[in-house]
Amino acid sequence: MPEPDDERWMDAAVELAWRCPPSDSAYSVGAVIVTADGSRLADGYSREDDDDRVHAEESALSKLGPDDSRLRGATIYSTLEPCSVRKSRPRSCTQLILASGISRVVLAWREPSLFVADCQGYELLAQAGLAVSELPGFAGRAQAPNRHLAFLFQSGTARAQSATIVTNSGLRGRSSY
Ligand SMILES: [Zn+2]
Repeated sequence: MPEPDDERWMDAAVELAWRCPPSDSAYSVGAVIVTADGSRLADGYSREDDDDRVHAEESALSKLGPDDSRLRGATIYSTLEPCSVRKSRPRSCTQLILASGISRVVLAWREPSLFVADCQGYELLAQAGLAVSELPGFAGRAQAPNRHLAFLFQSGTARAQSATIVTNSGLRGRSSY
């Protein structure tokens, strides 16, 4: 179930996603970690600090020690479903979140089958007992920083078709760019 501050924190995550250096081979994603009592603990975005492989959730978690007790019961807001399969690093963001003590994950956009065949972040996190919420009302805003990928979304493959539809709705939201 969404909570009152979910929109506020997802807003902050979307803001971070706009800071990502664009890449033709990866999404622009923002993530914010919020403690159980509602304070902002850490945040991150894709390719932060010139690390062209770092993911938003990974970047946020890397700013905290692995045993940081404030992670217990915390929520991570991510504009995109946390990855479950990853080529660039040994541990997926799903694995990092599961290891962190975070108990709730809120996402705006399920990962389309573009760079990996089938992202199962949502399912794996829920199966592990975390509370996972999706905010579909934010999908367009989460997709908008990924407009540089539009040529990939429009590649005509059957898998990309649903992604094309959602991306177009995102483009409508920020047509001034
Ligand atoms: Zn990831």
